[in-house]
Amino acid sequence: MTASPAPAVHEAGPTRNVITRHDHRGDTTIAADVAVIGSGAGGATIAAELAEAGFDVVVLEDGSYYQTRDFTADSSAMTRQLYRDGGSTMAIGDPPVFYQEGRAVGGSTVINGGMSWRTPETVLARWDRELGLAGIARELEPYFERVERRIHVAPMDPEAIGNDNLLLKRGADAKGWKIIGNLRNQAHCTGSNRCAFGCPTGAKQSALVSYIPRALHYGARVYADIHVDRVTRRGRRATGVVGTVHGSGHKLTVHAKLVVAACGAIHTPALLVRSGFRSPSGQLGRNLAMHPNVKVVAIFDEDVTGWKGVHQAFQVREFQDQGLLFAAVNLPPALLAMSFPHRGAALGQLMQHYDRMVLAGMLCEDTTTGRIRTIHGRPQAFYQLAGADAANLQRGVVLLSELLFAAGARRIYLPFHRAAELTGPDAARRLLERPIPPRGWEVVSVHLMGTCRMGTDRSAAVTGRFGEVHDAAGLMIADASLFPTPIGVNPMETVMALATRAAGYVIDNAARFLAA
Ligand SMILES: Cc1cc2nc3c(=O)[nH]c(=O)nc-3n(C[C@H](O)[C@H](O)[C@H](O)COP(=O)(O)OP(=O)(O)OC[C@H]3O[C@@H](n4cnc5c(N)ncnc54)[C@H](O)[C@@H]3O)c2cc1C
Ligand code: SF4
Repeated sequence: MTASPAPAVHEAGPTRNVITRHDHRGDTTIAADVAVIGSGAGGATIAAELAEAGFDVVVLEDGSYYQTRDFTADSSAMTRQLYRDGGSTMAIGDPPVFYQEGRAVGGSTVINGGMSWRTPETVLARWDRELGLAGIARELEPYFERVERRIHVAPMDPEAIGNDNLLLKRGADAKGWKIIGNLRNQAHCTGSNRCAFGCPTGAKQSALVSYIPRALHYGARVYADIHVDRVTRRGRRATGVVGTVHGSGHKLTVHAKLVVAACGAIHTPALLVRSGFRSPSGQLGRNLAMHPNVKVVAIFDEDVTGWKGVHQAFQVREFQDQGLLFAAVNLPPALLAMSFPHRGAALGQLMQHYDRMVLAGMLCEDTTTGRIRTIHGRPQAFYQLAGADAANLQRGVVLLSELLFAAGARRIYLPFHRAAELTGPDAARRLLERPIPPRGWEVVSVHLMGTCRMGTDRSAAVTGRFGEVHDAAGLMIADASLFPTPIGVNPMETVMALATRAAGYVIDNAARFLAA
């Protein structure tokens, strides 16, 4: 018998029911019960829940379809592939706020840090009290539980925690401040710290490896590489969507009884506006919250090797009631180098200390909001950092610097213009003597929320309590744009819980939704 040649190593064939730009031969028209636009935290979740309940679901995603095996150590290639606009989108303001969004099957969950937290009780109490969302805390409870099971929310294995995070803990403990271990959607994370560039082990249970396969299993079809141009409508009733296939420009038309917009807080309002939907509330595109985020870089005497160990193992919660959370994050050298004001040889010298650096950042619960304007059909964010939030960030930078010095830091570099480096906690405290105006800050954001706020009062909210668009029919929203206020913690789990609840509402009212 002749031995057959060893099989060539090759990637697995295409995934059943995932249609990419390579599969289109011309314009196509299809029909489904439900068309979901966007496959991130909201879109993938509602798609999986509805498919499992027997609905015929089609998901349309602007980004491409990558799998775990496609995620490499080439951060710049991953950023180009997985981030919208290569990760360099900007909200106009003084200072501008650079923000990041995912653009791939799985949406921002493919590039996020995996922190999985429920909406704080105080925030839900406010939604209940001030926004007409009576009983929302009790109502969301089972949905949080369901999401946590689906995406495997769990504490970190201790061996996956790196030194940068242990130093953060050391500093917090020395100050006597509350610090908690992060819950993350992961199973046996190895601590490779690549969460922001696509998890190469599949440990992070992003929508790509949780809800999307579940949706596919129950018969959903996922169209990647499709930019949805508009929701089609008959009067106020949504009737489907029209999208363009990237590369070829072919058109995909979907006739659907229910359309779910889940493009994220930047793109959902623009989609509605360019499709001709209006909100009598005047809130469509308004109420943009961003959780402004600033970072400091601390240099230690000891080796930190911050690239080893999971992205953000802990959160300092001591100042949560004042709207501040601290964490240690790590960035690859090229990205970190861009955040220093140094150039040329000075930058090279500084970066020689990369293995002794701790990059620590903070999230600020904003007290102001911005808006999305739709200009020639495209969204543009406008956001002006409030003076009160700049003052809170300044206080946060001082506190975080004190913590890092307590952990043993020797020098700290700061996130605003013309800032001298700090060499000790007294220097940090002296920072408070000179207010730094909003325009002096270097602010980034990865939490975009609130541009189609939900609420029962149609004169104040874009959607009802389940995401059904007021004054439209057959149109729902299931993404972070529903948040009536910022939530002060990482938003993914809230988005998923709201989307699961929205699916439950559709399932309970299936006859009405499918009758269209
Ligand atoms: C770098 C980073 C780190 C983060 N870390 C965390 C974390 O650790 N924990 C946490 O809770 N949250 C984190 N977040 C935030 C969290 O991921 C988001 O809040 C959440 O994913 C938002 O869900 P969404 O459904 O609103 O939008 P997304 O998940 O962003 O999904 C929207 C999808 O819609 C698609 N889309 C947009 N327009 C169109 C169109 N016209 N046609 C077709 N498709 C379209 C987009 O391509 C995208 O895939 C992070 C975010 C980033 C960017
Ligand atoms: S640290 Fe590595 S293994 Fe763990 S979730 Fe992030 S990318 Fe995946």
